[in-house]
Amino acid sequence: MDVRVSGVRKEFDRFPALHDVSLDINSGELIALLGPSGSGKTTLLRLIAGLETPTEGKVFFGDEDASLKSVQERNVGFVFQHYALFRHMTVIDNVGFGLKVRPNSSRPSKDEIRRRSAELLDFVQLSGLEKRYPAQLSGGQRQRVALARAMAIEPRVLLLDEPFGALDAKVRKELRRWLREIHDKTKHTTVFVTHDQDEALELADRVVVMSQGRIEQIGSPDEVYDRPNSPFVYSFIGESSALDVNVDKSELWLGDQALGMRSDLPDGEAQLYFRPHDVELVDDSGARIAGKIIASRRVGATRRVELEINGAKGRVEIEIPADHPARETSLIAFRPKHWRVFPKN
Ligand code: ADP
Ligand code: MG
Repeated sequence: MDVRVSGVRKEFDRFPALHDVSLDINSGELIALLGPSGSGKTTLLRLIAGLETPTEGKVFFGDEDASLKSVQERNVGFVFQHYALFRHMTVIDNVGFGLKVRPNSSRPSKDEIRRRSAELLDFVQLSGLEKRYPAQLSGGQRQRVALARAMAIEPRVLLLDEPFGALDAKVRKELRRWLREIHDKTKHTTVFVTHDQDEALELADRVVVMSQGRIEQIGSPDEVYDRPNSPFVYSFIGESSALDVNVDKSELWLGDQALGMRSDLPDGEAQLYFRPHDVELVDDSGARIAGKIIASRRVGATRRVELEINGAKGRVEIEIPADHPARETSLIAFRPKHWRVFPKN
């Protein structure tokens, strides 16, 4: 394990930006911190870097308490959303900056810094642009320079705060793949912040889903997508439908219809969550959820229909084959393939 965040709370003027956050980051792992704006992602990253100190709890680098290390001693590489390149320095001088400012004892020679910087520029596929200034680069190129600069110090951990956030969608997608390739070659331990679920799911080995200063779930992209452990994760990652149900002696009921589904929740009102695309249509008998189609729209190869559910308030969406004969006002019955119930709050 490379970095451990243990029971960290962070307050700004008594406002809790993080509550009791714990996270182990393994060596060589690419972790995505995913959450809406204000959920505490940047604060967590800055705490790891040593740019903020925890109100409670600790950060460890290996077995060492990181609070005993200065920002420089932590040796982290940081890339921000907004290009923080030095405007008056050429590309190659930007890349070498972190080495140049090292204390005498650990500073490589000028030639060595130049050689390493050129090597890194080649690695991020920017050879030939050594003598340019940041203003002469595209946004995507600048972020690649920023990444080369962060990697030049051979950081213990790379911290990337929405590094592609300011770029247009196409460049973003390219850089996402590119970053994954770079990571597979270098195996730098990396923490990547994003509010974009696609970016997190595509890039990361593990995704840390955050909301309101708390970690909601940690898991592989498949785990957080296929087995969300809270209503928040269900609706923040991917699409979800939710239906009011009742739990009665571990059986789920929709009005007076038993659904043939079980839950460990105590008796009472609950909500059944499932993915619109993850349902099977069934015939109109036995345990199932049935409803009237009240709206329908084509989505790619399938059709999305909105249903008014018999025996329940509220509406849900499901996906059906585009050539399904059901039309508006038709009745249709289905069963979710994967689902979870949460207590009604
Ligand atoms: P994110 O990066 O997920 O958007 P942040 O970590 O930047 O979230 O912020 C989390 C919360 O902490 C927000 O409500 C923000 O306003 C607050 N916050 C962050 N930094 C400071 C600060 N220096 N002073 C006061 N409040 C802050
Ligand atoms: Mg942020």
